[in-house]
Amino acid sequence: MIKNVFIDIDDTLLDFDKNATLAVKMAFEKVGLCYKDEYGPWFLQINDGLWRLIEEKKLTRKGLHERRFKGVLSEFGLVGDGDLIEKLFREFLFDLAIPVDGAVEILKYLSGKYTVYAASNAIYLQQVNRLKKAGMYEYLERLFVSEIIGYNKPSKEFFDACFKELDGATVENTVMIGDSLTADIKGANDYGMRAIWFNKKGAIEPNEKNYFAKVDRLQDIKKYL
Ligand SMILES: [Mg+2]
Repeated sequence: MIKNVFIDIDDTLLDFDKNATLAVKMAFEKVGLCYKDEYGPWFLQINDGLWRLIEEKKLTRKGLHERRFKGVLSEFGLVGDGDLIEKLFREFLFDLAIPVDGAVEILKYLSGKYTVYAASNAIYLQQVNRLKKAGMYEYLERLFVSEIIGYNKPSKEFFDACFKELDGATVENTVMIGDSLTADIKGANDYGMRAIWFNKKGAIEPNEKNYFAKVDRLQDIKKYL
């Protein structure tokens, strides 16, 4: 009997790809660099690669911030102040809250039936601000964010910290929803918790299906919860 839902934020509730692409464009324009549309997907690919390293404990968040835009600029063949662009990117991203289609509706639905907690690898205040702007914060009982916890999904320590704070929550009565096979689904599965994979990007299903359901649209979660 499911009682609790852990739900990822970026690219599950808030559209990270759209928000981040816009933040990159704004940061580039602020420093006078010409922005081209192909930079967006390129940035996301570099960023994803760095986040994989964080999930594998091979890179810290500080390392990500130091490396991200230096790498991006060199990949794009541009000359600029990587540290300044990184700072501007995060300032712009802080206020961008474009939702994933159906996110508010599904949160409203889930919070009517279960207790819903956010579980995110991110910066706490940034997530609070963006969820409030998107009208989602009120549906979340609490936010578990890696910056505060000190560990990232998929690590056991991240989920240990969540469950330690929750009375009566067990791996049997809790389900994880998220878009990332490496952070959300593997994290939940390794921890013994069921997971619903939100296949936001229409990826090919992996051979090892370590989730009990896959949805292509958030509203389809209602079929399972
Ligand atoms: Mg995500």
